[in-house]
Amino acid sequence: MKITKVKAVRTEYPRIPQKTKPRKADKYAGKIATGSPMSTSLGGRYFHTEGWWDHALMKGVGAGIERDVGCIVECEDGSWGFGFSDRGRITASIIDDYIAPNLIGRNVFETEKIYDMMTRILSPIGSNSFSTRAISAVDLALWDLKGKLLGRPIYEILGGSITEKIPLYASSNNTEWLKELGFKNFKRFISWGPRDQLSGINKVEKEIADARDLIGYESELMLDCWLSMDIETTVRVSEQLKPYKLKWIEDALLSESITQYEVLRNRIPQQTLATGEHWYGVHPFSHAASKGIIDILQPDITWVGGLSAIIKIVHIAESAGIDVILHGGGGSAFGQHASYGLTGISMIECSGPVITPIGVPLEEKDRFPGTPVPKDGTIIPSDAPGFGLEMKKEWLPDFFS
Ligand SMILES: [Mg+2]
Repeated sequence: MKITKVKAVRTEYPRIPQKTKPRKADKYAGKIATGSPMSTSLGGRYFHTEGWWDHALMKGVGAGIERDVGCIVECEDGSWGFGFSDRGRITASIIDDYIAPNLIGRNVFETEKIYDMMTRILSPIGSNSFSTRAISAVDLALWDLKGKLLGRPIYEILGGSITEKIPLYASSNNTEWLKELGFKNFKRFISWGPRDQLSGINKVEKEIADARDLIGYESELMLDCWLSMDIETTVRVSEQLKPYKLKWIEDALLSESITQYEVLRNRIPQQTLATGEHWYGVHPFSHAASKGIIDILQPDITWVGGLSAIIKIVHIAESAGIDVILHGGGGSAFGQHASYGLTGISMIECSGPVITPIGVPLEEKDRFPGTPVPKDGTIIPSDAPGFGLEMKKEWLPDFFS
């Protein structure tokens, strides 16, 4: 079956209305930047007033910045698959101008070969971030189409479900609300940074101690630093938080600073370190796994190169004896299927795109039609063909139309 069309599209699906009024104001609402590459709330390198790292994300739909990028791959009999990534016009133009012309006429089932071709087509213009986002959208659309043509869900094509339900963890500083929503494992974002010195570290300890009190010692607790720390502060935070049994410290340092991560690894060898949501393509994961620098790899299936890249990363991790836990995958059909069908993934994250305001049920959170909703801290993917999404073509106009 030959590919007849590869196109970047906008995602103008009907939004799910939020019927329930929030029970009370969330003191953390609007404070997504408590820790970020730009700033922590008090003591990061820059204060919030100096800028934000993603205006499209902060201003939301209708801000005049198209952030989401869908992709349609169509074949001879009119069947089509849907894939997804983000970062707007740059990603969309890579799909339309660089990838699409090379894929027309190729066999839709050759996901492995086409993934390899896409990485080679794009390597001369830079093989990461925007390129791997474009690859992700096309690769996921190809897998979705393969599933639809075979009439099977993607997790079955991968080899079948590896568990009854996928365990989730939820990311937000409102641990109390996450617990009420039924989540069993929790991650918090750090709110103080290197410039806060010991006083900031003490405040971090207080927040973590309070969270541990709330959830007890049967649940996992993690700390995400959003790339905002330095080596010395991470070492001190790790030492001070030992009593609270963190499962991992995440994104302590800027993602490209792999040599700093090596130093950090040697400074705190007992501390489980997690990173990878801002690594693009397979090679950074391969390097980190082979050197034993990182303990938990966290690729994002819509950024790293799609399902084809995730399969390779999971195999690398399994051979190195380390874990893969997808970034943000709990809220996406793509991440759910990968985590249900690959033995090397132990858990997935539910973050901002999944979590509702206080008092609002998870079912009322906007999502692609056909995406299952977490229940009791676990999730089961749709068993419909492909990734099980119920998108309609009329919701997916050409990105540059
Ligand atoms: Mg993270």
